[in-house]
Amino acid sequence: MAKRKIALAGIGKIAIDQHIPTLAQSSDWELAAAVSRHHKVEGVPNFTDFAQMLDAHPDIDVVSLCMPPVPRFDYAKAALEAGRHVMLEKPPGATLSEVFALENMAAARGLTLYTSWHSRSARFVPAAKAWLQGKRIDSFAVTWKEDVRKWHPGQDWVFEPGGMGIFDPGINALSIVTEILPDPIHLRSATLDFPANRDTPIAARLDFVHPHGAKVSAEMDWDHQGDDVWDIVAVTDAGTLALRNGGAVMEIDGVPKGDEAGLAGEYPALYAHMADLVAQGRSDVDLAPMLHVSDALTLGKRNTVSDFDW
Ligand code: NAP
Repeated sequence: MAKRKIALAGIGKIAIDQHIPTLAQSSDWELAAAVSRHHKVEGVPNFTDFAQMLDAHPDIDVVSLCMPPVPRFDYAKAALEAGRHVMLEKPPGATLSEVFALENMAAARGLTLYTSWHSRSARFVPAAKAWLQGKRIDSFAVTWKEDVRKWHPGQDWVFEPGGMGIFDPGINALSIVTEILPDPIHLRSATLDFPANRDTPIAARLDFVHPHGAKVSAEMDWDHQGDDVWDIVAVTDAGTLALRNGGAVMEIDGVPKGDEAGLAGEYPALYAHMADLVAQGRSDVDLAPMLHVSDALTLGKRNTVSDFDW
């Protein structure tokens, strides 16, 4: 079957690390244009202006948007107005209401909108979800610690309004939590550490209400030195599940599970899902991870901590 043409806009770290290599290997997609104000992708037509790309390429009916969340809405709106299906990097927007607006626009035009959550496609997320079904959960603890200087060197947008600070990686944890926890949770309290010279938090501690009384908490830190810690540990009546390394490792009572066969990797899985959505004329818009971030920014107690500089 012929590959479907797709355009990529916002050629920065994640586009170069994941989207471009994934599309190059894909049997579903042909990268047919790129839009970036400062970068070029070899071997495809490059544009600095998104509207010009849309005008020049009526043959490309799908766009994938990889720029940071604040500028993304205008691109998504323009794409939907021009009759294109749209895939959004995480977090899908700067606010919940702008994503609802996009969802309505897509539905009104019969177009696909996909709010992707790459961490949900980590190797052991489906197995962890299945294992937790039917078990009594006593505690559920998220620890998400990494060094922003390592993963986002010089990216000031993460500390600007709408950049979400620690919740830029923390929302990945919340995307797994909202996928694998059998019952919905909501935030009880939060403490957020804001560097005195920045507009978004660099660390957060969250406590959630669980319908059956499990203690559900998250500790997130973006000023962490040493190895990354991306762990979720659930203590249940049938043993302890640990999902480590962002879902790449799963242990039951300390014993690692063997490889899961047949999983494609995070970004190949996202693009395979987008291909299915477009083929079936469906959208996939799930804002559950972002609801918790929005609640934390609404309810959280603000601590001011030392200035952050790169
Ligand atoms: P980035 O490298 O800082 O930015 C991506 C590109 O977006 C930039 O190269 C820039 O391209 C474009 N851009 C930036 N500001 C813009 C603006 N105001 N208007 C239009 N275009 C703009 O960021 P990133 O790390 O790739 O992250 C982008 C998104 O991917 C974020 O939502 C992030 O959460 C998500 N993500 C990142 C990672 C990671 O490891 N970094 C992992 C997974 C997901 P031009 O200036 O050339 O136009």
